[in-house]
Amino acid sequence: MTLAPRVTLTFDNGPDPDVTPQVLDLLRARSLKAWFFVLGKHVATPWGRSLVARTHAEGHRVGNHSYTHEVPLGLDARPDALAREVIATEALLDEVAQRPRCFRPFGGGGALGPHLLRPDVLRHLLDHGYTCALWNSVPRDWEDPIGWPARALDDCARTPHTVLVLHDIAGACLDGLARFLDGAAALGATFTLALPDACAPIVDGVARCDLAPFTAPLPDRNHP
Ligand SMILES: [Zn+2]
Repeated sequence: MTLAPRVTLTFDNGPDPDVTPQVLDLLRARSLKAWFFVLGKHVATPWGRSLVARTHAEGHRVGNHSYTHEVPLGLDARPDALAREVIATEALLDEVAQRPRCFRPFGGGGALGPHLLRPDVLRHLLDHGYTCALWNSVPRDWEDPIGWPARALDDCARTPHTVLVLHDIAGACLDGLARFLDGAAALGATFTLALPDACAPIVDGVARCDLAPFTAPLPDRNHP
């Protein structure tokens, strides 16, 4: 048991017109700040744009989590995946609010590994001052919308600084979120927007560790 564990809340795959406002209301009522890693395909809609504006205005951090979220980038063989997934999403976010650039790769069920990035994406993140935000707790809220808080609280109790991946989409974290936050408060947790070193391999465009474990070779489109 770690005394006063630190917890960074992150919400991925939104915004969602029904769920995201409820998550924002809940966080506001408790004066908590979080990260929201959004999908370009949602930000491209009028409601998505206005939810990103609200999220930013309420003091949360908004980051890029790809446009379609269909294939982890290290497995995406399309030559224009960087432009279509990362750059297009960032352009939409820039229209709503200027903020530090942050990218969270899509892990496909939360797995960490070389499927997260590919060399052109990595180069882009470094050249454009991005922070790359990974994670160390995936309680699988999308599979278990009622039971996930117990796993998340267990991670928080055992880990000095937990970066928790939740999802502000239908059928995921919302029903358990108040219960989790109550439980974390009972553990004495401190909520922070900071990322521990192990979850931030790139900070403001500077590599902080060996990035090979998170980067696949460019897929060879001639030899699938
Ligand atoms: Zn995701």
